[in-house]
Amino acid sequence: MQAEIIAVGTEILLGQITNTNSTHIAQGLAELGIESYYQTVVGDNPERLASVIEIAARRNDLVILSGGLGPTKDDLTKQTLAQYLNVSLVEDAHAMTVIDDYFKTTGKIMTANNRIQALYPAGATPLTNHNGMAVGAFYRSPDSADFLLLPGPPREMTKMFDTEAKPKLQAAYGQQAQIYSRVLRFFGIGESKLVTELQALIDDQQAVTIAPYAKTNEVTLRISAQAESQAAAKAALDAVENQIKAKVGDYFYGYGDDNSLAKVVIKTMIARRLSLTAAESLTAGEFQSTIGGVPGVSEIFPGGFVTYANAVKHQLVQVPQTTIDQDGVVSEATAIAMADGARTQLQTDVALSFTGVAGPDELEGQPAGTVWIGLAYRQQPTTGHLYHFAGDRQKIRERSVMAGLDLLRH
Ligand code: ATP
Ligand code: MG
Repeated sequence: MQAEIIAVGTEILLGQITNTNSTHIAQGLAELGIESYYQTVVGDNPERLASVIEIAARRNDLVILSGGLGPTKDDLTKQTLAQYLNVSLVEDAHAMTVIDDYFKTTGKIMTANNRIQALYPAGATPLTNHNGMAVGAFYRSPDSADFLLLPGPPREMTKMFDTEAKPKLQAAYGQQAQIYSRVLRFFGIGESKLVTELQALIDDQQAVTIAPYAKTNEVTLRISAQAESQAAAKAALDAVENQIKAKVGDYFYGYGDDNSLAKVVIKTMIARRLSLTAAESLTAGEFQSTIGGVPGVSEIFPGGFVTYANAVKHQLVQVPQTTIDQDGVVSEATAIAMADGARTQLQTDVALSFTGVAGPDELEGQPAGTVWIGLAYRQQPTTGHLYHFAGDRQKIRERSVMAGLDLLRH
C-alpha cells in the first residue's frame, strides 16, 4: 500500500507559505502504516496538475491532493481530477445546505461560483468540511489509483483528514504494519558524544532504528520499530531504550516530541510541592519567562526578581555592596548572595540566581560566556556553579537558563 501526497498551490512553490498540509498528512499515513515514497508540490495550473496526477496515479495505490477546492478561478483541483477520471462533478446536498445557510445568516449575496464548493467527482464519497464550505472526497477506483481530495486551508484540511478521511482509509485498506516510535530526550551531552557512545548499538540494530536529532541546547533520539501490534512494538522499543539508558542514562530526562527540560523539571517540583523563585542578572527574566510557559507553575512560583544593576541587586535581594566590591558581580559570592536574598524575600523552598557575562564585551576582566548560577535549597548550604558557555549573547542567555533548569533536576 503506497500513497503520494500532492500539495496544490502556487504560493507553496514561491515559498510564500510553508507546506504544513503534507507534513500533517504524512504523519497520518505513517500512523495507518501506509507507505509513502513521494511528495509533490505543483502550482495552480491545470496542465501541470493533470500531469502530476497522472504520474502519481501510475506509481501509487492512493493519491492525496490538498488545495484548490475553493470557489475562485485558480481553484481547479477537482475539475482537473474529474477530467482525469472521466467523470462529472455532482453536488453534495449537505454541503449545499451549509453554503446556503452561510449566505442566509450573514446576509451576503451568493454568487454562482460558491456552488462549486459543494461539487465532488461522481462516484466518490463526499467528505464533510467541519471548518469551511468546500466539500472533500474519497474516490475509489477499480483500475487506477484511489484519490483523496482535501481543502487547502490547514484548519479545514486537518479536521477533515483526521475525522472524515482517516477512518475511511482505515476501513478501505485495513491497518498496515505500522511504524511505532518513541522520542527520548537528553540534556548535558552533545549530539556527537551521544552518537559516539551509542555507535555500536546504532550499528547493531535491525528491527529498531535509532535516529539522533540535535535541537537547541539538547539532543533527542527517535527510536522506531515496525510491528504488527502496539504490544510487539513496545517490547522492541523497551529493550532498545534500556540498552541506551545503560550507556547514557545520566543525561536522559524525559520522553516526547513536545516535551522540554522546563516542563519535566517544573512538573516534578509541582509534584514534590517545592516552591521556587529566581534572581536574574544576565538572563533578565528569561528563566522566569521559560518556567512561566509550563501550565500549573503558579502552584510553586510566586514571582521573582530581575536584578540587572548592582544597586538593584542590593535593593531587591539584599546583595551586600561589599560583596560586589570585593568579589565582583560575576562571582560565586554574588551568585550565592542573590540566591539567598531571593529565597529569603519570598520564603520559597528553592531559589536560583544568574549572574554572568552575556557579551559580546567582557566584564570585570572575564570573557563573555562566564556565568555563575547560585542554588539555594531550604537550610542547606547555598552553592555556586561556574559555567563557560560558547556562543553569542542570546545563546549564552539560553544556555544559562537550561543549566539552571538542569541544576533543579538533581
Ligand atoms: P479556499 O476556499 O480558501 O480557496 P482551497 O481549498 O481552494 O481553499 P487553496 O486556495 O489552495 O485552497 O489554499 C487556501 C489557503 O490555504 C492558502 O492561501 C494557504 O494559506 C493555505 N494552504 C493551502 N495549501 C497549503 C499547504 N499545503 N500547507 C499549508 N497551507 C496551505
Ligand atoms: Mg482557493
